Amino acid sequence: MEPTRRCAIVGSGLAALAAYATLRHGGLASNEIAVLGTHEDPTEVWRVRAAAIRQRQMRSESDGHLAAAAFPGLAVRELVRTGSLRPMVATVANRYHPSVEAFLAHAQDVRRRTGWSQSFTERRVGRITAREGGFELDGDGPFAHVLVATGHPGLSRPGEFSGAVHAYEPHEYASRIAIVGAGMAAATEWLNALAAGSEVVSIRRREPLRRPLNVPRTFFSKRGLGAYHSLSNEQRAAKLRELAAASFPPGPAWDEPLAQAEREGRFRVELVPNGAEQVICATGFKRGFQEDPLLARLVTDNGLATFGRWIVLEPDSTIPTLTDNSRTLSLAGVAAQWAFPAADTIAGAKYSARAFLRRICRTR
Ligand SMILES: Cc1cc2nc3c(=O)[nH]c(=O)nc-3n(C[C@H](O)[C@H](O)[C@H](O)COP(=O)(O)OP(=O)(O)OC[C@H]3O[C@@H](n4cnc5c(N)ncnc54)[C@H](O)[C@@H]3O)c2cc1C
Repeated sequence: MEPTRRCAIVGSGLAALAAYATLRHGGLASNEIAVLGTHEDPTEVWRVRAAAIRQRQMRSESDGHLAAAAFPGLAVRELVRTGSLRPMVATVANRYHPSVEAFLAHAQDVRRRTGWSQSFTERRVGRITAREGGFELDGDGPFAHVLVATGHPGLSRPGEFSGAVHAYEPHEYASRIAIVGAGMAAATEWLNALAAGSEVVSIRRREPLRRPLNVPRTFFSKRGLGAYHSLSNEQRAAKLRELAAASFPPGPAWDEPLAQAEREGRFRVELVPNGAEQVICATGFKRGFQEDPLLARLVTDNGLATFGRWIVLEPDSTIPTLTDNSRTLSLAGVAAQWAFPAADTIAGAKYSARAFLRRICRTR
């Protein structure tokens, strides 16, 4: 049997890069970390989705960056790059949303500086097998500490629209479009299509919920998070379902162009596409560990505790029955919502990453 290697990250997206940067900053060498993923460029999956809905500004603020240390945030980096104080001033009011371009340039910088490519192997991992003191990944390893960051398990499309393009796939806009959904991606696509001169039919099951985009700040505080962790399984799942409900922010930036287009007869709500040339599904992602073959197998092989679509985790994102003083199995990204409601954000990726590093340090 091969000697046990230090640690592995399964998956190669933004959460994996945030974790990699955290581990390197915490003193691990590149050759102590294996990254097994499908994309050498950790921004690729996200970049394509953001470009598809023409996202130009980040939804997150200055602190939504991938470097390990909290300081400097993206506003300070922008000040250094351009000499403009505007981002700093906006940050004070939590109103600075960096450009996607600046965020991507920063991500490439983190990737280069941390030596990501030296640790990366292109591979889709099919099975994680628990062994004494660690885990084998498709027979490779064992690794003492494994972080699983495999992202969303695919795009969701309602059955009747299974052949339609998804909002997160590259597309142009036809002249008469039906857009399915009522969340942030749908609202963004209404405005994109209207700006492109299209006529838009909105297909939705319910009236959109209007609320600020980000998970409430209380869940980022120790106290708020403590209260969340003390909820029963039923209450916790109900809270996560409530936070996941389709919504987009209130405000005139959304309302005015929609009201104007309604007056012009270019925007209306219907039950069916009604002769539209193009249907765009702005219907988000498939949900739950059951949809991710790797996680589904991990649950079955090890009889893991689950609740609804979530794997039950400790507050530090670890799987309790597979984590002890000698080994760690942690989740990051959307699959870690049981531990951190905003797990599917850059801030959430760092929450899991820092907890993972603390675990590794404990077993040094
Ligand atoms: C359009 C859009 C805009 C967003 N904007 C923001 C924002 O402004 N700020 C913010 O904080 N968050 C934002 N988010 C949320 C969040 O940052 C993303 O969802 C982020 O991509 C999550 O990173 P991830 O690594 O978990 O998943 P991904 O980036 O999807 O990466 C997962 C990777 O793992 C790979 N993989 C899957 N299964 C396996 C396997 N079995 N073996 C090996 N590899 C595997 C996948 O192919 C993929 O490469 C946005 C999300 C979207 C969709």
